[in-house]
Amino acid sequence: MGAMKPTISNIFGLDQSHLTQVPGCGNATRYLVFPAFDDFTLLRETLAEHGVQLAIASSYRSFQQQQLIWNEKFNGNRAVFDADGLPLDMSSLDDVEKVFAILRWSALPGASRHHWGSDLDIYDLAALPQGYQLKLIPAEYQSNGPFSLLGDLLDQHFAVGDFCGFYRPYMDKLSAVANEPWHISHRASAQQSMSILTKSALQQLVENSDIAGKAAVLERFDEIWQRFVAID
Ligand SMILES: [Zn+2]
Repeated sequence: MGAMKPTISNIFGLDQSHLTQVPGCGNATRYLVFPAFDDFTLLRETLAEHGVQLAIASSYRSFQQQQLIWNEKFNGNRAVFDADGLPLDMSSLDDVEKVFAILRWSALPGASRHHWGSDLDIYDLAALPQGYQLKLIPAEYQSNGPFSLLGDLLDQHFAVGDFCGFYRPYMDKLSAVANEPWHISHRASAQQSMSILTKSALQQLVENSDIAGKAAVLERFDEIWQRFVAID
């Protein structure tokens, strides 16, 4: 099966026709684009040799799912964290401040790399403590965290280049997105998506959406595009 070039609807999370289902994810249904799925299987096998049971916390997300997350955060119905992973008091912020607080950890709907099917958040199921609620915070992947073995292995491999076709777009960058050691991206697949994503198409999508804080997003759209979307 070859790689099909995605459409703009695919990469906005509005059309799932570019995706293939990942087996072996328990009760959850996970999707990736085929070349990413293929290399993910290789990555899973490689890490299994080190005792890691690679699991997917999140892979493909639709526009609707991302908008739900965004709107719950904007409206104070879901926790928003600061740079250190501590919860923020959203009620003390104005709309523009809320937008930038959310963008530190969550993408604007339509601009999430999780729409592409090339990107996923990973953890080690073998190291997940019983009854533990996965948080996806850096401390979980550092020494003393439950996923320090996975974190160390990823750090070692990514220090010298891509690992089974993946890289980490949100690590050690000058971008405004916080470091996310758990977020990996299939480079060849992501590049295809990136190459057809345009600022004007995204702006139009936002204008026609029900994104909470839409006026504030549009007011600062140039800055959002530069600091949080066009980072690679
Ligand atoms: Zn992610």
